[in-house]
Amino acid sequence: MTETLAYRPNVCPICLVCLVCAKSYSKECACPYAEIYWNKRRDGYQLDFCKNPLTQAAATIKKIKFDKEFVRWFHSNYASNFEVPPNLNYINICRECNKKYKKKENLNLQKPLIETELEETIDLTIDVTSNIQEYKEIKILPKKKL
Ligand SMILES: [Zn+2]
Ligand SMILES: [Zn+2]
Repeated sequence: MTETLAYRPNVCPICLVCLVCAKSYSKECACPYAEIYWNKRRDGYQLDFCKNPLTQAAATIKKIKFDKEFVRWFHSNYASNFEVPPNLNYINICRECNKKYKKKENLNLQKPLIETELEETIDLTIDVTSNIQEYKEIKILPKKKL
């Protein structure tokens, strides 16, 4: 049976490496629970990391776009014996694991986007000023693929 590991903001939940001492959280690390703050000089920690928002509210505070895809990736990739509190706003991910996510994200970008498909179904040749009534009728047509 694998031992359950309590949540710590100073541990990468994907690879379970302590960001403060750079050692394995379940094995050699003897660090206490610690909030760490990213800074250029790596004051207070050894491994570089990214602080990723897990909620829309947290992303708004950080003034960045909320990345739902990251949240999905995070939930399917963090170590199963690592306890993640349900109402966490941010998660610290080590630089290496964050790279793995970015790689996966780039692969996804190569697939056609659903949004583009929808745009193509709108007839942009309609002259809206000449016949507003007609335009409205077209607009309410169900988006059906023939
Ligand atoms: Zn990691
Ligand atoms: Zn440690």
